[in-house]
Amino acid sequence: MRTSKYFISTLKEAPSDAEIVSHKLMLRAGLIKRLAGGIYTWMPIGLRILRKVENVIREEMDRAGAIELSMPAVQPGELWQESGRWEKYGPELLRLKDRHQRDFVIGPTHEEVITDVVRKEVRSYRQLPLHFYQIQMKFRDEIRPRFGVMRGREFLMKDGYSFHTNFEDLQREYRNMFETYSRIFERLGLKFRAVAADTGSIGGSGSHEFHVLADSGEDALAYCPASDYAANVELAEALAPSAARQDGRQPLEKVATPKRTRCEDVASFLQLPLTKTVKAIAVMHDDAFSLLLIRGDHTLNEIKAGKLPGLDPFRFATDAEVERFLGCKPGYIGPVVIDRANIRVIADRSVAAMSDFVCGANEEGYHLTGVNFARDLPEPDLVADIRNVVAGDPSPDGKGVLELCRGIEVGHIFQLRQKYAEALNCAFLDENSQSQIMEMGCYGIGVSRIVGAAIEQWHDDRGCIFPPAIAPFTVCIVPMGYSKSAAVKAAADTLYADLQAAGVDVLLDDRNERPGVMFADMELIGIPHRVVVGDRGLAEGKLEYKGRTDSDAQMIPAADAVGFLK
Ligand code: ATP
Ligand code: MG
Ligand code: MG
Ligand code: MG
Repeated sequence: MRTSKYFISTLKEAPSDAEIVSHKLMLRAGLIKRLAGGIYTWMPIGLRILRKVENVIREEMDRAGAIELSMPAVQPGELWQESGRWEKYGPELLRLKDRHQRDFVIGPTHEEVITDVVRKEVRSYRQLPLHFYQIQMKFRDEIRPRFGVMRGREFLMKDGYSFHTNFEDLQREYRNMFETYSRIFERLGLKFRAVAADTGSIGGSGSHEFHVLADSGEDALAYCPASDYAANVELAEALAPSAARQDGRQPLEKVATPKRTRCEDVASFLQLPLTKTVKAIAVMHDDAFSLLLIRGDHTLNEIKAGKLPGLDPFRFATDAEVERFLGCKPGYIGPVVIDRANIRVIADRSVAAMSDFVCGANEEGYHLTGVNFARDLPEPDLVADIRNVVAGDPSPDGKGVLELCRGIEVGHIFQLRQKYAEALNCAFLDENSQSQIMEMGCYGIGVSRIVGAAIEQWHDDRGCIFPPAIAPFTVCIVPMGYSKSAAVKAAADTLYADLQAAGVDVLLDDRNERPGVMFADMELIGIPHRVVVGDRGLAEGKLEYKGRTDSDAQMIPAADAVGFLK
C-alpha cells in the first residue's frame, strides 16, 4: 500500500472524552471514528487490524474442527419468547418492530438462532457432535458504552455453539476450546489469564473467562501463583451484593468510605419530587457517571427515552454531586443501595463494574439488571468461597495465597448443558431411536475488544506497538525526498515491490511530508518495522532500519533488506 493512494488521518490530540490510553490512541491513529455512543466506524487501518485478529481466530477455530457460518443480525422476537429470554434479558436487548408490528431484536448473542437451525437440521446421533461459529456484529444496548471499542454497543464477536449427544462429549469439546482459546491469545501476542467464572478450579468448572491483563480492566481477578486457581472476583461479588464487605475488611483496592445520605436531601438537591417508592439507579452516559432517582418501576429504556410521567424534566446528578452525596470519587463508587430512607454505597467498586449490573434495592430487595441471566448467573453458593477476598487470603484450593489483578474479558467459554436445547426442543434420535435433548456449549471472543485490549497492553508515549500478528502493516518504508531524489525513489519502489512479492504487508509513505511527520504517524499507528531510504545511506549501499521498540536505528545492507525484514 502507498500512503498517497491510501487513507491516513491521524490527530495530535485525542478528543477529551477518551479516558483510557487505548481509546485515545485508536482515535489519534485514526483507527476508528465515533458515530454515536458505543458505535464506531472502523477506518481502513483499524479494519486491517481487526481483520488480522479475525483471521487468527478463524484459523484456530477451523483447526479445532469448528465450522463457520453466518447468522442474521436481526432475529424474530418469538424465538426469544420461546427461550424465555425476551423477559429475562433486560434493557441490553435492542427490540424493534417491523411494518407489520411484529417483534424483532438485534442479536446480542445467537443461542436461539443456532439452536433453531440445529433442531431443524439435525435428526440423528450420527450427525453429532457439531460446532458452528461465526464472526459477526452484535448489538447490546450497554448501559454505559465506554472505552471506545472495548465496551461498544455494536461490536464484533466470534461466537461458537457446540451440540453433543452427551455431557462427556460436551466436556471434551470444552477442553478443546479451552486449549484453542489459549492458542489464539498466545498467537495474538497478548498477556492473558484464564479464570473460572464460577467455581474456580480449571477443568472442573462450567465456565471460564479469558482476560487480557491490564490495569484499566473492568474485572478484578483473584489468582494463586502457587496453583492453577484463578477466578473472577467481580462476578462473585455481583452475585451477593448484600453480603459484600459486611465483615468490615478492606475491599479489593481503594476504599470508598460508605456514607449514608437521606433520600430527601438528594431528591431536593436534584429537584426531584420524592414519592414513597424511590429507586436509585446509577446511570452511565458517554461522558459521565450519574445518579438518577426514579419512582416506581420504570425501566431503564423508559428513563432513557425520557418517558417518566411526573419527572419531566428530570436531571442527572453531576459527578461532583454524586461525590458529595455518596462521599467517594465517582471512579470508585460502589453499588448504590437505597432503602426507605437512605442511600449508601455498600462496597467500593469501579464505576465500570457497575455498568454491568446496576444494583438498586427497594423494599423488595436487590436487583441485578444488565447481567446475562441465562449465562452469567451460576448458583450463588458456587462462588461463596471467593466472595470478599483480599490479597493474601488463602486460596480456596489450599495451595497458597491469593493475589489480585485487573483484567479485560476477551473470551468466555460456557457449558450451557441443556438450557436452550430443552426450551427450544432441540433433540436427536439416539442409537435406539429414542428422542433425546442435546447438550450444548457456547464460546465467545470479543474480536473488536481485543484491538483495544492489545493497545492497553502494548503502547508507549509515541503510540501503539502492535504485536506483529495483528499489526496493520508489518513494515513501513519512509523515503527521504521521494519526489526529489531519483535514487531514493528507485530504491524505495524496488524495496516496496520486493517486500510485496515476498508476501510482507508493507506501507510505502510516499506523501512527501516532512520526515518528522511521517515518523510520528508510522509510530502512532504502531507498525513494527521501519526502513528509512535516504541518499546518504544509499551512497554506501545501506538503508536505515529501526524496530518500533528499538532505542536506536541501525544501518542494513540495501541488497539484503528483504532477507533482513522477512
Ligand atoms: P462483559 O462482562 O464485558 O459485559 P459479557 O460477559 O457480557 O462481557 P459475553 O456474553 O461473555 O460478554 O460475550 C462474549 C465476549 O464478547 C466477551 O467475553 C467480550 O470479550 C465481548 N463483549 C461483550 N460485550 C462487549 C461489548 N459491549 N463491547 C465489546 N466486546 C464485548
Ligand atoms: Mg456484558
Ligand atoms: Mg462478563
Ligand atoms: Mg462473559
